[in-house]
Amino acid sequence: MNSPQTREDLTTLPAYKAGQKLAAREGVQVFKLSSNENPYPPLPSVVEAISQAALDVNRYPDPLNTQMIATIAERYRVDAENIGVGTGSVAVLGHIIEAMVAPDEEVMFAWRSFEAYPIWVQICAGKSVQVPLNDHFGHDFDAMLKAITPKTRVIFVCTPNNPTGTAVMHNELDDFLSKVPSDILVVIDEAYGEFIRDTDVADGLKLFRKYRNVAVLRTFSKAYGLAGLRIGFVIAQPNIADYVRRTSIPFGVSGVAQAAVIASLQPAAEAELLTRVNDIVAERERVLEKIRAAGWQIPPQHANFFWLPTSDVDRIRAACEEAGVAVRPFPEGLRITIGESEANDRIVSLLTSWK
Ligand code: PMP
Repeated sequence: MNSPQTREDLTTLPAYKAGQKLAAREGVQVFKLSSNENPYPPLPSVVEAISQAALDVNRYPDPLNTQMIATIAERYRVDAENIGVGTGSVAVLGHIIEAMVAPDEEVMFAWRSFEAYPIWVQICAGKSVQVPLNDHFGHDFDAMLKAITPKTRVIFVCTPNNPTGTAVMHNELDDFLSKVPSDILVVIDEAYGEFIRDTDVADGLKLFRKYRNVAVLRTFSKAYGLAGLRIGFVIAQPNIADYVRRTSIPFGVSGVAQAAVIASLQPAAEAELLTRVNDIVAERERVLEKIRAAGWQIPPQHANFFWLPTSDVDRIRAACEEAGVAVRPFPEGLRITIGESEANDRIVSLLTSWK
């Protein structure tokens, strides 16, 4: 008897691997440094806005996200029609692919990079073109230019790059954009943009203002500490933002999430959130200084995590877990989030005495 069949072309679709969480252990506080989350709890003013919005959950949220989009637009000095939102930037990037890429058309990105890119491309029946990172774990723009074909529709540039923590320099990206055909959309994924301190690193918004085929992807999950509420957005030309809206799930971003964003962008709240970001960056520098001093070769890092290139992934991961800290393994290294200082200290002590 025949039964309903799932799509043949999705049999190879990998499942998204979320960062692992360790089971609670008697006498040991366990930490999760495997998902690049913000270790700080939400601000009281944000919790208050969430509680107020919770009183209305018998109603659908504003499907146009009017007030939230107006607040984001004012904050980034763009028009509301330049903004498309979704349930996390992972959803927004999926909507961009849905809106831009027909079956068999190509989406290019460096590899290794954010693992959701190839998953979304495959769901949309597009073709992923993965251009290997260079020897310094950075983007190889010459190779990317050579890989452009008449079928290329979208190029993702993840900076800082997940999982390698490396960032693209502004001049380098500007030069690349000047050579990319103007009918290809270049999405600069700045999920970790607020953690950049090097002023030579690419500024996506500046490039959005210079090139009409540039879009900038942002999230409230990392610097703003709202990962659990799922809100991301893109700043793009109105026709692209419009199609992100059209492909989005109606009422996707909840009223609670919209209220949390509006509260987080109030000047006093945002200043406090960005002070926390400064503290995370200071922790990153403290941790990196100690680990590098112990001999580890780590490329320049710009996000709220660091990349540890190593062939000893399994042993180090097991030792971190033994120490009560979950980290994120990849075939060519480990990605370790900067978290609570106790968790960071455990990582430092383990890696500085590693043999
Ligand atoms: N882009 C990059 C580069 C990421 O690392 C992540 C989160 N891991 C996202 C986008 C998506 O984040 P969110 O859906 O929480 O906004």
